[in-house]
Amino acid sequence: MEPLSLQLEHWRPAPGLTQPAVCLRLGYLLLGHLQQRPILAGIAMPDSAQRQQLQFQLQQTPLYLIANAQALNDRLNAYGGQHASQLDDAKAQLAHIAEHSQLRQASDIHIEPLSRGGRIRLRVHGLLQPLLNLSREQLTQLLGRIKVLAKLDVSEQRLPQDGRLTLSQPALGFRVSTLATVHGEKAVLRRLPEQRQLLPINQAIPEPTPRGYLLKAIAASQGLVLLTGPTGSGKTATLYSAIVACRQQHRNVCSIEDPVELVIDDINQSSVNRDLGLGFAELLKSLLRQDPDVIVLGEIRDTETANIALQAAESGHLVIATLHSPSATASLQRLQHLGQPTQRIEQLLSIICHQRLLRLLCPHCKQRANTSATQQHYQAVGCERCEQGYYRRQAVLGCWSPTGHLNYSLYASAKRLLDNGDTSLSEVRRVLGNIDDSQCHDTHRS
Ligand SMILES: [Zn+2]
Repeated sequence: MEPLSLQLEHWRPAPGLTQPAVCLRLGYLLLGHLQQRPILAGIAMPDSAQRQQLQFQLQQTPLYLIANAQALNDRLNAYGGQHASQLDDAKAQLAHIAEHSQLRQASDIHIEPLSRGGRIRLRVHGLLQPLLNLSREQLTQLLGRIKVLAKLDVSEQRLPQDGRLTLSQPALGFRVSTLATVHGEKAVLRRLPEQRQLLPINQAIPEPTPRGYLLKAIAASQGLVLLTGPTGSGKTATLYSAIVACRQQHRNVCSIEDPVELVIDDINQSSVNRDLGLGFAELLKSLLRQDPDVIVLGEIRDTETANIALQAAESGHLVIATLHSPSATASLQRLQHLGQPTQRIEQLLSIICHQRLLRLLCPHCKQRANTSATQQHYQAVGCERCEQGYYRRQAVLGCWSPTGHLNYSLYASAKRLLDNGDTSLSEVRRVLGNIDDSQCHDTHRS
């Protein structure tokens, strides 16, 4: 399950290599073997039935590469094989793409026009991976189908559009966004959060130290709790886990979101509705008359929402909000840029948690890394059960408070995963840059 893009034009078959009938029938070309595993080129990853057939007939789990349709079909024709373009209609293509996005836990699907034809890529554990190449005609049909299902204007191809798409088979929901590029219209489908992704806080933040700091802050009756990180750092998932952790019979937990993406039992969630003139400010005004204990603000994104968050905290409530920013220091600067005086922020802010997601090494294939370091580290290898040696992602959290009594470094959290052999040094460096021991501090004065 580790597809790569491939320039098939440069491939020359090894002497004596024969093409198995099952491959030719399903539109796959056997390129050779890597440690006895067959390497197959196709224009798309096989669906589950095809995968089972290939695996059964070849008696090995193949590695798959994604090739250009034209080049692959030329080769398959030469061997008398089936034409590789099995996914002729847009309905079958969309079902195939959705199935793979679910199977591989993709967060986003990119449908991209290129100078010739188009391609589909999936964002899996934070990185884009190729899935499928399409002709220009197939791409246009697929985009047309997505726009119809997402109730977008099909004739509009120059202006950006946003919508929602719900598929029944497999049952998945997406936020759809389209944008014109120089090669034509592009669409990105972002997977909507699901109930089953709503993790209890001890699973969302497995490390006890930062979890303890966050739990202490949200157990307080007032203050501002900020969950920060860049896009795709999992702060929304942490926010939902924090809401669930706050949910107690004696507390009225209310949220203002834009829009509500995941419905949680026993919480009063309201969506911003600008068409009705219900912005954050209007909703908060009404919310304050609803006797709230905890107010959750989906995201602080402008001067208005920054003001509202601090105003709500000033009125003696516990406020939990997310903020898009790379570090604790940058979060403070961001609030200052949004017009908030430093003194006001420091008085009200109880904790800033800043987070990243690190990919976890697959326990079935990880190997000891050859390093001179005293601490044993592991590295990614890759097998049929994982994506390039990793199988899922986990949040690492740093915690900081303006009063200076709390400073737990994000690097300490990452280093713990590294030293436990749960992630690799290259993954830590990819996400956090180079780290050294001086950055892994934890100070806590009560
Ligand atoms: Zn593996």
